[in-house]
Amino acid sequence: MDTVVIGASISGLMFAKHLGLLGTKCLVLEKEKGVGGKPCGEGIDDSVTRASSFFYLYGSEAGIERQIDRVVLRYRDYKVVTSANIITIDRKKVERELLHQTLDVGADVRFNEKVSHLERTRDGVRLMPQGIEARVLVGADGVDSITRGFMGLRKPATAMALTTQVRAKADEATIKFEKNFFGYHWIFPKSRTCNVGVGEFSGKWDNLRQRLDSFLSENGLKCGEIRGAQIPISSPKKFYYSNIIVVAVSASQVCSLTGGGIPSSSQCAAIAARVVHSAVKNNNFSLRFLRRYELLCRREVYPTLWARRLISRMLFIAIKSDRLMKTIGRIVF
Ligand SMILES: Cc1cc2nc3c(=O)[nH]c(=O)nc-3n(C[C@H](O)[C@H](O)[C@H](O)COP(=O)(O)OP(=O)(O)OC[C@H]3O[C@@H](n4cnc5c(N)ncnc54)[C@H](O)[C@@H]3O)c2cc1C
Repeated sequence: MDTVVIGASISGLMFAKHLGLLGTKCLVLEKEKGVGGKPCGEGIDDSVTRASSFFYLYGSEAGIERQIDRVVLRYRDYKVVTSANIITIDRKKVERELLHQTLDVGADVRFNEKVSHLERTRDGVRLMPQGIEARVLVGADGVDSITRGFMGLRKPATAMALTTQVRAKADEATIKFEKNFFGYHWIFPKSRTCNVGVGEFSGKWDNLRQRLDSFLSENGLKCGEIRGAQIPISSPKKFYYSNIIVVAVSASQVCSLTGGGIPSSSQCAAIAARVVHSAVKNNNFSLRFLRRYELLCRREVYPTLWARRLISRMLFIAIKSDRLMKTIGRIVF
């Protein structure tokens, strides 16, 4: 097989599906026994992340829960209801649907296949212990990506987020900020439940669990199973190499303001599919050829991510100062 993908989460599957639609098949290896196991806030901000491209790339209604057009923003005593365009999803259902779509276009997806290390060969990369050789390896293997490590890149700075599903009904989303807390709490309504969570972007995660507990109790919500994971918030210097590219979370293609990565990751995965398809057709897997992937991502996806990184820096500077927040509060709220 020319193309092998590590990771069958949203972006690995999105890549495999779009590669298949272009007429090139690939093999996807996933260490878990099935899809849909990752913790997620399940909210897609359709107003600012150009997320419409996610729904376009996804091309199905399956797993889409609610369209939320109002969000309550809270900071200390300030509260404002503002218009929004957040679409909530059932991530497990979305990944199941993507798996079907991926299989339909002829990709081979194998579960319980953990890739433990990689070796350079004359013509590409060998995945071990499977012993499979790839002319081009696509790392969609998340925050602890072995593909990124193999390229000699360090793990990026990360945020941490905890999430839980609660039995509750709501018509509006809630986002709450706190003084000196570099993150936010959220309630994203789904059709029968709400996804509730907290994300911290400063690297200090000591009392995240207590924060979630008190947010739940102040909203009169009962806690379900709590799950958490890291989200990359700093970019790697490079996300391609000869015979290798990394996509999505493994390449930090995530919005550092919200921690949302589904739209940007999906866009980059679809770009990667275009470039890999053309690499296979031209039988050219060189560093120079694969560079087009990075150029296209920087042109088509990164301006939004960079703008939001700037906003997040400004917001978290403002949060240190009551005075500044009060002024912003007076203007915005
Ligand atoms: C708690 C939390 C909440 C989030 N909430 C939102 C949100 O509300 N909205 C949003 O847009 N984004 C959200 N995100 C970000 C979003 O989840 C990611 O951007 C999105 O999942 C894309 O991730 P991915 O496919 O690159 O990686 P992942 O989802 O991390 O998938 C990586 C896959 O690779 C597999 N894998 C890893 N290593 C190996 C190996 N060695 N061998 C084989 N398989 C391997 C893993 O099992 C996994 O299936 C959230 C993230 C977290 C952690």
